[in-house]
Amino acid sequence: MRLLIMGPPGAGKGTHAKLLCKEYNIVHISTGDMFRTAIKLGTAEGMIAKQFIDKGNLVPDDIVIGIVREKIQENECNNGFLLDGFPRNIEQAKSLDIILDECGVKIDAVLNLQVSDDILIKRISGRRVCSKCGETYHVVNHPPKVEGICDVCGGNLVQRKDDTEETIKTRLKIYNKQTKPLLKYYEKQNLLKNLNGVEDINLLFNNIKKLLGGMND
Ligand code: ADP
Ligand code: AMP
Repeated sequence: MRLLIMGPPGAGKGTHAKLLCKEYNIVHISTGDMFRTAIKLGTAEGMIAKQFIDKGNLVPDDIVIGIVREKIQENECNNGFLLDGFPRNIEQAKSLDIILDECGVKIDAVLNLQVSDDILIKRISGRRVCSKCGETYHVVNHPPKVEGICDVCGGNLVQRKDDTEETIKTRLKIYNKQTKPLLKYYEKQNLLKNLNGVEDINLLFNNIKKLLGGMND
């Protein structure tokens, strides 16, 4: 299975991407996670990306498209993958079409999580991530068992540097201007599946599974 998960920042893409990849045994390709890892490792690419990410701006297309092309071509992606956070503009969407053509594969569905701006802001400001393994929590909606500690690996939970009020506004603006128009692009290809992203995490996960199960019938 090959999927895209879309939606504004804070819609729950990463949360559901992790659950879906485990369920279907496919590779989670999160461009945001890849950049955060590169920043942690201090690579040259990471250092360039950091300047854009910290301000809430998009990392230049040539860098993003390059890392996605490399990843999709890896053998571990042969069984399927879920792209989370890519594509984010029309240039990236067109490049993805070319990459998929080169690999001789097609996207099965584009999952679009719909959430209103007021809820997004509450979600992003309450988001905490594990500094060690990247697992995502929310102080109210999805708290860890022990405050400040990751359930999965015991690492410390921190707030993302780009989850400030100022940066959130920039990210939402960029989403509305550059990323939201892609929904039409995928609707025209009959791939778009709109989902109510406001639902409880488990309920929404079950709804996505039902939808994907139905597609295989
Ligand atoms: P994205 O990857 O789209 O930016 P995340 O998956 O990181 O979003 O989710 C943003 C925040 O909202 C996290 O703190 C997460 O725990 C929380 N969250 C995700 N999905 C839901 C949901 N369906 N209901 C309530 N909170 C959610
Ligand atoms: P995310 O984890 O998806 O919220 O992404 C965090 C940040 O990484 C974004 O705000 C961008 O600065 C950068 N980023 C992630 N994916 C992309 C992409 N496809 N194109 C450009 N920048 C990206």
